[in-house]
Amino acid sequence: MSEPQDNPHRETVSGTPNISEGPKKTARSQDYYEAIKHKFAEERDLRLSLRPEGTSQYTSDLTGALAKYAVDTYGGEIKPREAINDTVECLFIGGGFSALLTSARLRERGVESIRIVERGADVGGTWYWNRYPGVSCDVPAYDYMPLLDELDYVPKDHYSKGPEIYAHCQAIAKKYNLYELAVFQTTVTSTVWDEAEQMWHLTTDRGDHMKARFVICANGTLSKPKLAKIKGLETFKGHSFHTSRWDYAYTKPDLSGLEDKVVGIIGTGATAVQAIPGLGASAKELYIFQRTPSSIDIRDDWQTDPNWARRLKPGWQAQRRELARAQPQMTEAQKAKYDAMSREEKIRRQENANIDAMMRIHKRIDQIVKDKATAQALKPWYMLMCKRPCFHNEYLPTFNRPNVHLVDTRGKGITEITERGPVFEGKQYEVDVLIYATGFEVQKTGIYNQIKGEHGLDLEDKYRDGIRTLLGIHSRSYPNLFIMGGYQASFQFNLTDMLQAQGDHIAACIDYARSHGYQSMDTTAEAEEWWVQEVIEHRGKTTRNQDCTPGYYNFEGESQRRQDGNYNGGFYQYCNHLNEVHTRMDKHFVFTKK
Ligand code: NDP
Repeated sequence: MSEPQDNPHRETVSGTPNISEGPKKTARSQDYYEAIKHKFAEERDLRLSLRPEGTSQYTSDLTGALAKYAVDTYGGEIKPREAINDTVECLFIGGGFSALLTSARLRERGVESIRIVERGADVGGTWYWNRYPGVSCDVPAYDYMPLLDELDYVPKDHYSKGPEIYAHCQAIAKKYNLYELAVFQTTVTSTVWDEAEQMWHLTTDRGDHMKARFVICANGTLSKPKLAKIKGLETFKGHSFHTSRWDYAYTKPDLSGLEDKVVGIIGTGATAVQAIPGLGASAKELYIFQRTPSSIDIRDDWQTDPNWARRLKPGWQAQRRELARAQPQMTEAQKAKYDAMSREEKIRRQENANIDAMMRIHKRIDQIVKDKATAQALKPWYMLMCKRPCFHNEYLPTFNRPNVHLVDTRGKGITEITERGPVFEGKQYEVDVLIYATGFEVQKTGIYNQIKGEHGLDLEDKYRDGIRTLLGIHSRSYPNLFIMGGYQASFQFNLTDMLQAQGDHIAACIDYARSHGYQSMDTTAEAEEWWVQEVIEHRGKTTRNQDCTPGYYNFEGESQRRQDGNYNGGFYQYCNHLNEVHTRMDKHFVFTKK
């Protein structure tokens, strides 16, 4: 494997920002770090006190007056079609990377009958919906874009832009012949297990009644747009949309439609950070309504060197993924030193290194942003990784433009919108267009869909006393149902690493059932209980989540049952558990013969 293109001092091969855990020599006193931690805690507490409503400050119920924020602006007219009444072997709910890369593995194992049912008008998932200006991926493309070996494709840049990734999704669907049975502009509304038939019955918003032996919930981790519940939001008389439903008919593809417009954008998360530079360069005036700043690091981007690409040997990406999955190796001496350290000392060193990284990010702001008050307001006061870290070279300079205005709401957020635009501290901001960069519903299984397993048990009801799964993928009493990207699975900065691991496992399970002539497989009560306890044990190790500023990573500061989140035992360990399970299927599942 050749690696000359990678910048080793900033990212690991999987794209995770490199916060060194190692003992770093520093001249700073511990008091310096304690003072910063104190400030982090103050900023968190301020935000928690300003919005105690937690996750309920948002709504993803985009119906009634809010229905326009959910309308697909890319798919065109919904094409009329006959209702479908048929049976397939494997059915994917959602057509993003989860479905695409698992389908590829199923095809490799000889599965012919594969259907994708997708709400959008094409495959692509997040890359179908997120077409806002500047959209790109923050994970190196050589790691992020799946199936590069299989498609014999080398990304154009170190960090791919949205349109290239979207085109790659379409290329995967073509290569694996997934368009043939795919159904678009269709939302699955119910998925019900028929015990007599050992089949899933699915209905949709288009009047379909499909049956499937295996169902894979591939609806994405962040797919349903949400809006902040702001008083008067629906009274705004100007134009408005959510970033995942960009209205290019209004802005024009090159944003020239904004030349004479005053634009407001609410939110400064990873999406806004990418959209704001283009808006700043195009709008007559741009108002950015910030509640908490993102951390903005250098984006080390470059075009792929064709000579490097030419030298890549077949299987190069699979090798990279293997490397990313392997636990970071320490020398014996390093390991002995690390093991001898107390838990408190390990945490202290890791926190200090994290604070050093954040202070470097603060320094960069001072170097780039000319107005001192604006620079101060753009400084994030929390540990790195409390929020999704961002990488951008044009975001901070955008604040030096005379037409760009930061409205820092200091944790409070915009709480009122009138027919003319947002109001903050009694000041009315008149805007022509208001863009909501307020994010998405997080990791919900069956997001538009009611799932009923054995004895008609609704999955939501089963989870009411706490999520229960095996590996975040299987849940007892939901035979032949597989969940991708849900809770109780590992979390990876490079999401496709995780999805690929899950996809490989799901394909292995389905292959096992088919080759043994089994009609259904369901996890045992013991296997499920084992996994729930694993999740609980690993989620209780630190108070890091509680110490973080609120955001979707920590359920907006709400306290959660320890099992209702991701598995925190590490990706390496998660992959070992996946292997363990599909190499001992008989131990973890009960099977029903034909
Ligand atoms: P986020 O949920 O991260 O951000 C929502 C933003 O809205 C936050 O800045 C939040 O502030 C702000 N907000 C909410 N209510 C108000 C209000 N009333 N007034 C002002 N601001 C408000 O959504 P994004 O769409 O930005 O990102 C979602 C995720 O998508 C990312 O975390 C990432 O995982 C993914 N993504 C990945 C990219 C990549 O390169 N791989 C690029 C873009 C997105 P506060 O912070 O205070 O809560």
